[in-house]
Amino acid sequence: MTVPAFRAPKGTFDLVPPRGEAMLAVRDTLAAPLRSAGYGYVETPSFEETTLFARGVGESTDIVTKEMYSFTTRGGDDVTLRPEGTAPVLRAVLENGLHRGALPVKLWYSGSYYRYERPQKGRYRHFSQVGAEILGTEDPASDAELIVLAVDAYRALGLTGVRVLLNSLGSHESRPAYRAALQEYLRGLDLDEETARRVEINPLRVLDDKRPEIQKALASAPIITDFLSPSDRAHHDTVRSLLTSAGVDFEDDPRLVRGLDYYTRTLFEFVHDGLGSQSAVGGGGRYDGLSELIGGPALPGVGWALGADRTLLAMEAEGLPLPGVTGVQVFAVPLGDEAAAWAFGLVTQLRRAGVAADFATGGRGLKGAMKAADRSGAKYAVVVGARDLAEGVAQVKDLATGEQQAISLNGLVTHLQRLV
Ligand code: ATP
Ligand code: MG
Repeated sequence: MTVPAFRAPKGTFDLVPPRGEAMLAVRDTLAAPLRSAGYGYVETPSFEETTLFARGVGESTDIVTKEMYSFTTRGGDDVTLRPEGTAPVLRAVLENGLHRGALPVKLWYSGSYYRYERPQKGRYRHFSQVGAEILGTEDPASDAELIVLAVDAYRALGLTGVRVLLNSLGSHESRPAYRAALQEYLRGLDLDEETARRVEINPLRVLDDKRPEIQKALASAPIITDFLSPSDRAHHDTVRSLLTSAGVDFEDDPRLVRGLDYYTRTLFEFVHDGLGSQSAVGGGGRYDGLSELIGGPALPGVGWALGADRTLLAMEAEGLPLPGVTGVQVFAVPLGDEAAAWAFGLVTQLRRAGVAADFATGGRGLKGAMKAADRSGAKYAVVVGARDLAEGVAQVKDLATGEQQAISLNGLVTHLQRLV
């Protein structure tokens, strides 16, 4: 009986070299601006109580109604693989009492997220995000800071095609009047049953409906920015002017809404036009009421999550070289058993001295070993046989020029350290 070969589950994929290194580098680069802006690193479990997401993300959102990986454990607990990071991070802040210390609390995180989506390019069931949150302040400077840090991260990766879409959803001061006006407008449209139901439960989500006929019908819908209270407007204007003074271009998009229920006031999305329909590489916003929703005290917050998978796709769309792929600097080619044992020692010493090094294994002959040296990306090969050892030298070969030089074994590590 033959066992069928296993494959990665539908909607998931493996990262193998060199894309594996590229993904690591993308995540590192996305996080670097946060690390130099006073954010602390937080790690939460990959699963949480299901009700955390039901309440925190919103019962009527696509994430909660269609996309969650939920299951009951052997012990009878209802848990869900995290579909997003904000609700878990806020849960961790409250549980660990971080909000009782100095405010604001600035945090970043990086990890795997899970959504039962229809798989397509840029949309997977397992994906990875780098996220940031600022808790305990309503200061619009925090909203602007986060947007600037994301833009700087994309720039550091070499991306030039990321656009910033910006909106304000208003606070409790502005939302009820807007919600009512939007609802009245939507009730006048000829909508399918599900959408009509959404108009009653969560009319703002209808704005996020991507179907062209709906988008067309929404063309003359009322826009939130016409309903902002003076303080919501002032908040929004400050975010906009801080972005401008930081040299960050943005586009006002009064129809921007996002798939999570908890947003208030500032809302933004980072889009890239090289990605087809999955154009959002990241997004976020302010969520001043979320803490109360999950049983905490009033604790305003703002945050974003950047999709590492789509960011890598965007880099490929712009023709940027894969980041993070370094290889080794020196490759040892031993000829014979005695040389093999010696080469093992040399490579160990080189690595300890900070020189990236590798060696040919399995007693390969000169030709095969030199091929491995070329593939390794090394600049230099150290070729050594029994006769070289007897003479106290090794042959150091420049793999680009083919030049070869006998170097005394005593000074070899220092010599290579200087060369690379
Ligand atoms: P979309 O509108 O594309 O479904 P979203 O609003 O659901 O995105 P967020 O919850 O804001 O996405 O997540 C932030 C970022 O994470 C997105 O901008 C995207 O880059 C990435 N992301 C979200 N869902 C997926 C997924 N299923 N596969 C890959 N990346 C994803
Ligand atoms: Mg989504």
